[in-house]
Amino acid sequence: MAVLCYFRNSLSWEDIITVTFLSGGTGTPKLLQGARLTLNDNDIAVIVNTAEDLWYQGGHISPDIDTVMYLFAGILNTKTWWGIDGDTFVTHEQFRSLGVDTYLAVGDRDRAVELFRGELLKGGMTLSQATMELCSRLSVQAWVLPMTDQEYTTMIETEGGIIHFQEYWVRHRGSVAIRKVLRIPDTRPDASTGALEAMEKSDLIIIGPSNPITSISPILECNGVVNLLKKKPVVAVSPFIGDKPVSGPARDLMVALGFEPTSAGVYAAYADFIDLFIQDIRDPVEVPGAIRCDTLMTTPEIAKGIMDIILTHMPV
Ligand code: GDP
Repeated sequence: MAVLCYFRNSLSWEDIITVTFLSGGTGTPKLLQGARLTLNDNDIAVIVNTAEDLWYQGGHISPDIDTVMYLFAGILNTKTWWGIDGDTFVTHEQFRSLGVDTYLAVGDRDRAVELFRGELLKGGMTLSQATMELCSRLSVQAWVLPMTDQEYTTMIETEGGIIHFQEYWVRHRGSVAIRKVLRIPDTRPDASTGALEAMEKSDLIIIGPSNPITSISPILECNGVVNLLKKKPVVAVSPFIGDKPVSGPARDLMVALGFEPTSAGVYAAYADFIDLFIQDIRDPVEVPGAIRCDTLMTTPEIAKGIMDIILTHMPV
């Protein structure tokens, strides 16, 4: 790791113009709650994983974009980190009673967003344009940016065949053995123009504590992203606490791809382009040069504490 940490007592978040986050749909959004306590929403850009997107029951689900968008719109269900707070499931239940295979429980209000996104995409908008349109209608001030406007989907090869990541995680609850993690198509997509511009203009890029294999790697694989990361101050926060992730399948996926399922493995995946690594105080492995703190974000205030630590040690 290029150690570029300076203690900067006089710096405050007001001196920072823009921070860009790389995000999935749970760990980084928790950190974003803390970022919102220190930065104005319109100084925050979030490049969001779209490799878990799918067309479902006529709508277009973009799970990580929805979580980030609902967070900034103030309507996210933060008990589950997906869907809209207080949503109802009347349509989902009706599908079930009709005997429709409905392994993803989509709320009614959430479904309206997905159907509308589907209409926008079918009408010829790119995912970036559709996201901007939805953000505007939901009064979101932050810059929510799909990593790409091209299709690029995480699929899991199992003994029984190749399935979409959502099927692996939601239908099978991560219980089937992973043979391989695939991206379809297997050619790297171009990063969206908005994502590249946001990185270019940022004072700091934060890779949040999201799943390195299914949330962050797809973003890194978009053409142009890693080159820009190498030119910018970059901080990464580990999604591992102790010897396991807080939630989700990161452990099995990292093992399947040959990474050590610890903060050291996460660091190894990012080492080429990060300047500062943050790991939890409970980790049994020590990443040389890393800053250690409590990274279990049970409240936005704890997340703000992590943001303050990032500011204090911000690479320049
Ligand atoms: P997904 O799209 O729902 O898989 O969400 P992400 O990839 O954004 O987040 C999943 C990752 O977030 C998991 O690997 C978790 O370990 C991590 N995570 C969730 N909550 C926390 C937390 O409070 N602290 C840290 N350090 N990681 C967290």
